[in-house]
Amino acid sequence: MIFTDTHTHLYSEEFQQDSDVVIQRAIDAGVKRLFVPSIDSTYTKQMYDLEAKYPENVFLMMGLHPTYVKDNYEEEIAHIETELAKRKFAAIGEIGIDLYWDKTRLEQQQHAFKHQIQLAKKYNLPINIHCRDAFDEVFEVLESEKGEELHGIFHCFTGSFEQAQKAISYNLKLGIGGVATFKNGKIDKFLNEIDLSNIVLETDSPYLAPVPYRGKRNESSYTVLVAEKLATIYNMSVEEIAAATTENTKTIFGF
Ligand SMILES: [Zn+2]
Repeated sequence: MIFTDTHTHLYSEEFQQDSDVVIQRAIDAGVKRLFVPSIDSTYTKQMYDLEAKYPENVFLMMGLHPTYVKDNYEEEIAHIETELAKRKFAAIGEIGIDLYWDKTRLEQQQHAFKHQIQLAKKYNLPINIHCRDAFDEVFEVLESEKGEELHGIFHCFTGSFEQAQKAISYNLKLGIGGVATFKNGKIDKFLNEIDLSNIVLETDSPYLAPVPYRGKRNESSYTVLVAEKLATIYNMSVEEIAAATTENTKTIFGF
């Protein structure tokens, strides 16, 4: 049984002391495919080091996270372009719009998002979308860039049934993580109406740990807990959830 964590920040400061233990625990739990989103250029080296250490398990994305879109964001995107020209990545991410922390940079975030979607198309890569308090703004950009080449994952999907359908209409799969296990998480109420072919698992570790670890540090081995919750929602076995969602990641990433 192979689980795929489609979104794990393994290079985070929170794993600095024990990242080897955390990664081994994930592999032992069957979470053998670990997709690592980028935040900004300051983490690139640590990401490469991790990949070199776990080439069978760790797959890297390249991109600028919306809350890291600052005045120098054009330089950050230039860094992304340099790396994309140099080597292979699994996806462009995480990219998108976040209006939770700062609303003043909406225009820059939109521009960075659009530019990075165009890079994904140029390199024929999927995207990994971060959206917080910004569904309308994210959909506006997707609408302007939609098409067959646009595909990927709507990471940490926490929207409504209608928003889920809209995301799927742009060739996006829904990244489902710890929030699905929360009492007030809401998405567990309608998820069974969404075909499983549109769902992938993720942790977003070290954030958003599933129940019973809610509020604590999250880690990739907890992908199994998300799969267990989905098994209840879809009335299927954990094995079936693991197989179907891992298959979906192969469709997205091409391996
Ligand atoms: Zn993330």
